[in-house]
Amino acid sequence: MCGIVGYLGNKEAYPILIKGLHRLEYRGYDSAGVALVNADNSLKVYKAKGKVADLENYAQDKDCSGTIGIAHTRWATHGEPNDINAHPHYSQSATLALIHNGIIENYAVIKEDLKKRGFSFQSDTDTEVLVQLIEYIKTTNKLSLEKAVQLALKQAIGAYAIAVIEKGNPNQIIAARKSSPLVIGVGDDEFFLASDATPIIEYTNKVIYLDDEEVAIIRRGEELSIKTISDVEVTHEVKELEMSLSELEKGGFEHFMLKEIYEQPKRLKEALRGRINIDETEVNLAGIREHKDKFINAKRILIVACGTSWHAGLIGEYLIEEFARIPVEVEYASEFRYRNPIINKDDIVIAISQSGETADTLAAIELAKEAGAFVYGICNVVGASIPRNTDSGSYTHVGPEIGVASTKAFTAQVTVLSLIALTIGKLKGELTDENYLKLVKELASIPNKMERTLKTNQQILNFAPIFTYARNFIYLGRGYNFPVALEGALKLKEISYIHAEGYPAAEMKHGPIALIDAEMPVVVIAPNKGMYEKTISNIQEVKARKGRVISIITEGDETMKELSDFSIEIPETEECFVPLLASIPLQLMAYHIAVVKGCNVDQPRNLAKSVTVE
Ligand code: GLU
Repeated sequence: MCGIVGYLGNKEAYPILIKGLHRLEYRGYDSAGVALVNADNSLKVYKAKGKVADLENYAQDKDCSGTIGIAHTRWATHGEPNDINAHPHYSQSATLALIHNGIIENYAVIKEDLKKRGFSFQSDTDTEVLVQLIEYIKTTNKLSLEKAVQLALKQAIGAYAIAVIEKGNPNQIIAARKSSPLVIGVGDDEFFLASDATPIIEYTNKVIYLDDEEVAIIRRGEELSIKTISDVEVTHEVKELEMSLSELEKGGFEHFMLKEIYEQPKRLKEALRGRINIDETEVNLAGIREHKDKFINAKRILIVACGTSWHAGLIGEYLIEEFARIPVEVEYASEFRYRNPIINKDDIVIAISQSGETADTLAAIELAKEAGAFVYGICNVVGASIPRNTDSGSYTHVGPEIGVASTKAFTAQVTVLSLIALTIGKLKGELTDENYLKLVKELASIPNKMERTLKTNQQILNFAPIFTYARNFIYLGRGYNFPVALEGALKLKEISYIHAEGYPAAEMKHGPIALIDAEMPVVVIAPNKGMYEKTISNIQEVKARKGRVISIITEGDETMKELSDFSIEIPETEECFVPLLASIPLQLMAYHIAVVKGCNVDQPRNLAKSVTVE
């Protein structure tokens, strides 16, 4: 959500900043802007509603010189997306320019106070209040920018990643963060700033992650200095990025989403390597084994997550309860954090987030830690806030996910949850050796079966255009496939803007059946496992009301094929692993319907990749 880029070095800043903004486009935004200290020491701000390309058009005949600058893609929270509300924002005297990701919750009070002191405001944003406050503190107390930023941030309530530059000073960027991501890249005589590492990786693989309430003082020709907002000096280890540039390119695919759908077999194979032994007889998840007593003795597991990760969590509930026999509750992080939940010391909280920066999930983690629970993170982005704020955890290790609609991160989360369930089940002695071995072997075979499942792409491509007429879809599944139905519906909503609902198949009779008519497409996940016969009955009920059935079935299931208008076959697997295969045709179907409808698949409207504000 929203992107920050900054540069200070010997090269021209503008092209680096623009390229960086393009790299961050996947995060979702509605306007973009840049501020530069030009070669003549003036401070220029250029900004425009729309895409980064609109900003480039606007700035093409302007002075974009200078070797220092900050740039931003905005995802509006306060004030509509327009040129004025876009960042950077000038201070009253136009001597400071600031970009901000997050929300200043007490902006209204500060704004009123500053108005009384003669400040006027151009925009409707909470952000402009912050830059005015910094200027006010700086000028009235005759302080350095660094000190003024520290004091202003002490007054700010909310979340922020900010960067500020100053007219007449081409040698300094002040940056800070709290609850919003910010990474500093350290090159040779140059520094980079960004919301994540994607704009940085082509210049340096050395990065420093700021912690909450820390301020970075980035000065030309000096070592990076980091202080807290209370002026305590801190040092951070320089980390090496594992990412490679090719991971950020489309690699011949039309969209990142399609590339990421296709990457699943290879990525999951890599993610499983080292976690399943070579003989395929044992799983080993270090994060669990290192804390095995905690897991063996856990009375309850609480899974907190949002969106797609929450769906993965639901599958985790089925897996952990079945194999480890520990009661599991799955909660929306946003609800959990505000409803005074009961958290016990012997609870384990598993927090799931692709980006590792999801604001609500981070807040839920804090709550769990305060209550004394052990917190385990499942996250994809290495070095993100969740892995840094949890007691232990597992990376999903599937590389950067650029498409806003999550695909490979989802199947990877389900894979890690499968590993967790099997590891605890074995440690607790809940799984027989025979069952354990069978499941480990089957899990190891999933990447190859995913490869086979991807062969359904052409078939899905052929029938997808038929369904672009639809305004609604229903997705049905039972047991492990109920969360798959939810996730399938979410994918369709996100990228094709068709309203879709997922239901446990048996729930259909309790309401949604009223919606079924000849217009209504019903997607049924109906493998030959679990409650197969009951799912057949559900399909009959849909057919009797002339609904159009698209079914995901086990290879060779002729009965289901005959009942369905369209059926997509997936390889046979254990019931608990069906979600890993059944999700793929649902991803492809959402993708192709959206493409035929002409939707922006990688950057759907209104959506942000990582939701770093509440
Ligand atoms: N709250 C700020 C605004 O609405 C920043 C939004 C963002 O994170 O992009 O301008």
